[in-house]
Amino acid sequence: MAEKSFKYVILGGGVAAGYAAREFAKQGVQPGELALISKEAVAPYERPALSKAYLFPESPARLPGFHVCVGSGGERLLPDWYKEKGIELILSTEIVKADLPGKTLISADGKSFKYQILIIATGSTVIKLSDFGVQGADAKNIFYLREIDDADKLNEAIKEKKNGKAVIVGGGYIGLELGAALRINNLDVTMVYPEPWCMPRLFTSGIAAFYEGYYANKGIKIIKGTVAVGFSTNSEGEVTEVKLKDGNVLGADIVVVGVGGRPLTTLFKGQVEEEKGGIKTDGFFKTSVPDVYAVGDVVTFPLKLYNEDRRVEHVDHARKSAEQAVKAIKASEEGKSIDAYDYLPYFYSRAFDLSWQFYGDNVGDTVLFGDSNPASPKAKFGSYWIKDGKVVGAFLEGGTPEENKAIANVARVQPPVESLDQLAKEGLSFASKI
Ligand SMILES: Cc1cc2nc3c(=O)[nH]c(=O)nc-3n(C[C@H](O)[C@H](O)[C@H](O)COP(=O)(O)OP(=O)(O)OC[C@H]3O[C@@H](n4cnc5c(N)ncnc54)[C@H](O)[C@@H]3O)c2cc1C
Repeated sequence: MAEKSFKYVILGGGVAAGYAAREFAKQGVQPGELALISKEAVAPYERPALSKAYLFPESPARLPGFHVCVGSGGERLLPDWYKEKGIELILSTEIVKADLPGKTLISADGKSFKYQILIIATGSTVIKLSDFGVQGADAKNIFYLREIDDADKLNEAIKEKKNGKAVIVGGGYIGLELGAALRINNLDVTMVYPEPWCMPRLFTSGIAAFYEGYYANKGIKIIKGTVAVGFSTNSEGEVTEVKLKDGNVLGADIVVVGVGGRPLTTLFKGQVEEEKGGIKTDGFFKTSVPDVYAVGDVVTFPLKLYNEDRRVEHVDHARKSAEQAVKAIKASEEGKSIDAYDYLPYFYSRAFDLSWQFYGDNVGDTVLFGDSNPASPKAKFGSYWIKDGKVVGAFLEGGTPEENKAIANVARVQPPVESLDQLAKEGLSFASKI
């Protein structure tokens, strides 16, 4: 069996893997010391682009345009960059077995990779309707979106089913961004989700009302309080209808499902400590197994600010956790130490000409401020979350870079609040003066 040996191996080829490779290069790595193993066929890229500009009908984003680290304003790491740094980029290679005590990974094509230090950056995978045995869920033209191959297939279907009908199952991040992308491509879009409003894990009813109104004004139909329970197909096996639990049936040429993700921990089951569905790490992203680190979507880590272990499935954390892990590895080799990860949760999304940012924790009471009328030509509004008399989270739609910085600062500083009414009146100016 072919065997290769490296000092460091990054398992995964997504956002965290790319940022980890850049940090290794910054800290100094000798040619041949580091390998990045990915089942994708392309070098690490900024995954959020897949549900946004990658699906645009005009001037879509394409590789090599959005390889990491352009999403955070950094250098774009093309395949040649890895070559120049002596980093081995091992693509189209799925690892199917991880032997952590033996410090060995085995690929689907039987190759064996030995390491001294491993960084697990396997990310998440989508939850599929077929996982729940939904009838007809494996029909053609039912799509999920995680990797660039998925986005390519969706783009082909958009072209093939021009001006057709699309049904989006799920009202979270992916559902909202893809609903917009398909509408921009002139499909007739209906969104279906069981909750009383979209993105309930983050949005308050007030925030959601804006987006639902805005989407309705764009011609997107929204059906709430029900779920897809089956699909009909034509003789080619292509989806033609979505059957809903409430008895309605929707015609569909394309279905996109965004009902959540699951961290990819399967390879390490029983070998490493897990918590809250992720691989448990400390504030340096060390797992319970010596010389094994984990970063990005796959980890449950101590969120110092809230004194709680959490998993964060967002791109900012993927980037920062990767950098933290590599800094910690390099520092420990030099007998030095660094500060533990002290993360302020940050999520964002963009759809149509909208753009929002959220910082902090969405717990406690909420106040809505600003102009949240979906018909306003330039709506700008936000929300604060207040717990134990302090602002702990802040959301802003349509903010300038300075305003977004101000809400990030509020979420970090957690200033006291005397009156919620006063806070609602002050709105953004409350954040700006902190
Ligand atoms: C379509 C889409 C849009 C998004 N938009 C936003 C957004 O707007 N804002 C935001 O904050 N976050 C967004 N996210 C979330 C963000 O992209 C993720 O949090 C981030 O990519 C996590 O990085 P990661 O490196 O942990 O995982 P990933 O980027 O998913 O990378 C995991 C990598 O590991 C590889 N891999 C997995 N298992 C194996 C194996 N056994 N062998 C070899 N390789 C393997 C995968 O192929 C992949 O290359 C979005 C996610 C998606 C899917």
